[in-house]
Amino acid sequence: MKTRRNFIRLSALGTAAVIGTPCIASEKETPKEKINKASVKITKPIVVSTWNHGIAANAGAWKILSKGGTALDAVEAGVRVTESDPEGMSVGLGGLPDREGIVTLDACIMDENNKCGAVAFLQDIEHPISVARKVMEDTQHVMLVGEGAKQFALEKGFEETNLLTEKSKKAWEEWKTESKYQPIINSENHDTIGLLALDEHGNLSGACTTSGMAYKLHGRVGDSPIIGAGLFVDNEVGAVCATGMGEAIIRIAGSSIVVEMMRNGMSPQEACKAAVERVVKKHQDLTNLQVGFLALNKNGEVGSYSVYSGFNYAIQTKEQNDLIDAGFNREWD
Ligand code: ASP
Repeated sequence: MKTRRNFIRLSALGTAAVIGTPCIASEKETPKEKINKASVKITKPIVVSTWNHGIAANAGAWKILSKGGTALDAVEAGVRVTESDPEGMSVGLGGLPDREGIVTLDACIMDENNKCGAVAFLQDIEHPISVARKVMEDTQHVMLVGEGAKQFALEKGFEETNLLTEKSKKAWEEWKTESKYQPIINSENHDTIGLLALDEHGNLSGACTTSGMAYKLHGRVGDSPIIGAGLFVDNEVGAVCATGMGEAIIRIAGSSIVVEMMRNGMSPQEACKAAVERVVKKHQDLTNLQVGFLALNKNGEVGSYSVYSGFNYAIQTKEQNDLIDAGFNREWD
C-alpha cells in the first residue's frame, strides 16, 4: 500500500522542478527513512494564485513569506491586494454587481490546523477575506452571510465602503440593455482570486475571494466561500482552490476531492486533471462551463487544470516569478 509518507517522497523524486530546502529527518525514523527523506527537496516558501492578477497578489504574499512569516498571514495579505484593486472587475472593490446592480462578495480562508472562516453575500466591505479570518479566529462559527456578516464586520471595526465603481456600474447598465437578464461567468475579467502558500515552516494555508458570477441572481452564492468547494487545505497533503462556474465546482465538492486525490498518491497536476474530468463527466451541457483548479502540495509541487483553455496562474518562489498556462480538457468552441 502507498502510505502518505511514500507518496510525498515518490512525488517529490518524480518532479524535475523541485528545488529548495532539504527536509530534515526526525530522530524517530529508521535509518532508511532518514536517507530517503533527506533526499527530498521541498520548495518553500512558495505562493501560487489564480489568473493574471495573481502576480500582484503573490507579491503581497511574498512580502510576508520572504521574511519568514506564516502562510496564513501571507494568503490574507496577498488577496487583499486584489480586493482593493478597482480595475479588477471580479473581486472586491470594482467587482461586477448582481443583476440588481448590487455588489455582493464571497470569501473564505483556511489554515494549517483545518481552522477556517467564510463570509458570503457580504455587501459594502472592501476586505471580505479579513472578515472571514475574524469569523475563523473570533467566533465558533465557520460562515456568516449577508446582513449578519456585515453587522459582524462593522462590530469588528471594518468600514462601510461603496464597492460599485463608475466602471462597473456602466458595464452593468450596458449589460441590462441587451442581456435578457442572464448571469455570465466573468471570464474576460480575470475571475476569482484563489491563493495558496507554503511557508518556510512547512505550513500551508489558502484564501479565496470574489464578487462571483457577474449579474448573478440577487442572493446567489458560488463556490468561493464554501470550504471544500472553492478552497480546501489539509496540512498533511496540500492546498487547492478553484475558479470558474461555482455551481459546477460545488456539485463535485471540487477542492476537497483534489486534496483527497493527492492524498491517495496523485501529483497536483494529475489530481486537478482528474477533478476537471469529473466536472466534464457530470455535466451534459458544457457550454461556457469553465472550471479551473490550482493545487499546491506539501513539497511545494504545483498543478493546474481547467475545462477550457485560457486559465492561468501566477507562481512565486525564491527562484521564480511567472505566469503559467494551465493544462486544459478542450479549446473554446
Ligand atoms: N467561482 C466564482 C463563482 O462562481 C466565479 C469565478 O471564479 O469566476 O462565484
